[in-house]
Amino acid sequence: MPRHFDPTLVNDPFDDPGLYVDLVFERRALLFDLGDIARLSPRKILRISDVFVTHRHMDHFAGFDQLLRRVLGREKMLGLYGPAGTIDAVEHKLKAHTWNLIDEYGGNLVCSVTEIDEAGRQTSAKFCGRTRFERSNVETQQADDGLLHKEPGFQVRATTLDHGVPVLALALEERAQIDVWRNKVDAMGLAVGPWLRRFKEAILRGVDDDVLVDIGWAVGQLGRPTALPLGLLKREIMQITSGRKIVYVVDCSFSDANREKIIRLARDADILFIEATFLDADAAIAQQRHHLTACQAGTLARLAGAKRFVTFHYSPRYKGQGQRPILEAQKAFLNG
Ligand SMILES: [Zn+2]
Repeated sequence: MPRHFDPTLVNDPFDDPGLYVDLVFERRALLFDLGDIARLSPRKILRISDVFVTHRHMDHFAGFDQLLRRVLGREKMLGLYGPAGTIDAVEHKLKAHTWNLIDEYGGNLVCSVTEIDEAGRQTSAKFCGRTRFERSNVETQQADDGLLHKEPGFQVRATTLDHGVPVLALALEERAQIDVWRNKVDAMGLAVGPWLRRFKEAILRGVDDDVLVDIGWAVGQLGRPTALPLGLLKREIMQITSGRKIVYVVDCSFSDANREKIIRLARDADILFIEATFLDADAAIAQQRHHLTACQAGTLARLAGAKRFVTFHYSPRYKGQGQRPILEAQKAFLNG
């Protein structure tokens, strides 16, 4: 898969938090948090396939109707993910409207909602426009290490932080990319064939290097081995490019438990988007309201080994002083 995540904040850092991640080559996008999305163009909103809601305070969920209004009447599956209670919340939002005219709409909008609780238990349910958004297909399963959503090219993992209420912190992880060098395959006398797919799958499964992989020769099998060690093939014909990792952290206190979870989730992130709601001078207020200061955000980015980090979700009390949280966070990031 090409490297194609293009993450941008939806709003100014003083307005509702939200991260829009365009999956450029798939002509679709992911959205982290669903506050005010009026600044997203209709075209951008229509590209959204999956929305990850950290929690349901107004500034993180009030954009649900804006999104619904734009996608209604389309043939579309919309994935919505959030902490425990998200299925009920979406149902209430949908029930707040009258649907007697929905049969006249062209496409069937389906909301596929998944919630994850603090124990990692995942429950999902569907709401179809065709049935006037009655709840259906309810399923429960245990999530593996916070795995909330998985596709061949990427996955999204969640961990639950404390903000007075449970809040999801989210990591979007691109799958490692394996590039096979065609010229080296040719030079070894090997044939291009289905065995290459099995070879790549073996690497992704983490199979030992001395395990033999069935291969195909370009000319004449006679006298040649029918399989070669995985490690030899890895050395000779391919390179692995590790996938990118984007992490999104908002609305949490700087407690020991939150710190540990954030550092684990954001370990080696390529970009960490992290709230810096208060300045360190107001750390007492930050603690009382279960938010991070800029200094704490920079410290977490450093401890997690993030390559880059972006702060946002600033308190309106600092309006006009938007450089201050950035500078404070950078200082903590650089001078541990
Ligand atoms: Zn909140």
